[in-house]
Amino acid sequence: MKILIVEDEPKTGDYLKQGLTEAGFVADLARDGWDGLELAKDGHYDLMILDVMLPGLDGWQVLDGVRRAGVETPVLFLTARDQVADRVKGLELGADDYLVKPFAFAELLARVRTLLRRGRGGLEPTVLKVADLELDLLRRRAIRAGKKIDLTAKEFALLELLLRRQGEVLPRSLIASLVWDMNFDSDTNVIDVAVRRLRAKIDEGFESRLIHTVRGMGYVLDMDRDGA
Ligand code: CA
Repeated sequence: MKILIVEDEPKTGDYLKQGLTEAGFVADLARDGWDGLELAKDGHYDLMILDVMLPGLDGWQVLDGVRRAGVETPVLFLTARDQVADRVKGLELGADDYLVKPFAFAELLARVRTLLRRGRGGLEPTVLKVADLELDLLRRRAIRAGKKIDLTAKEFALLELLLRRQGEVLPRSLIASLVWDMNFDSDTNVIDVAVRRLRAKIDEGFESRLIHTVRGMGYVLDMDRDGA
């Protein structure tokens, strides 16, 4: 799951990016309204965390621009101003939730998870399964055939993507845009290395292979693809 943070205060921005990354999300950080709007219009984000007071465009203008561009990414507003008028203005523009600074990271994380679930119709399972593999999104835990598997945050995000899109061949470029942040250098073989490591943990020593390479195309997670 990929989150865009638009926050000009360096400390808060870095704190959010680090915390969300540690919680297993992929996070990009924009430090002003213009960059935030450009990135948001890209449309690859599952959620935006938007500060109100920003240089360039303020948070409301960013949200307005995002919605005008037809991007429906849910938005959580961060504001130091908790006046009723501000809340009403943001909600009228299509913000999905509010958090008043200063906030506890645990609360932010809870709101983020709620918004992400709601964004998918509220019916989103919190445990993704295929064959004897289970990925528990809330407990951040992977289990195969009853055995717990330790994954890095990146491996977890990669496996989550493969599970959500199981049966679908995912090109490297798509994997890069959904699992890596905007500073990712696509000329490297980082994705292949990450998939190889993930596969060693998920598939080695188990009866069937789940993660497959489709030559010239990308990767797919599938139960019925032996020999592919
Ligand atoms: Ca600010």
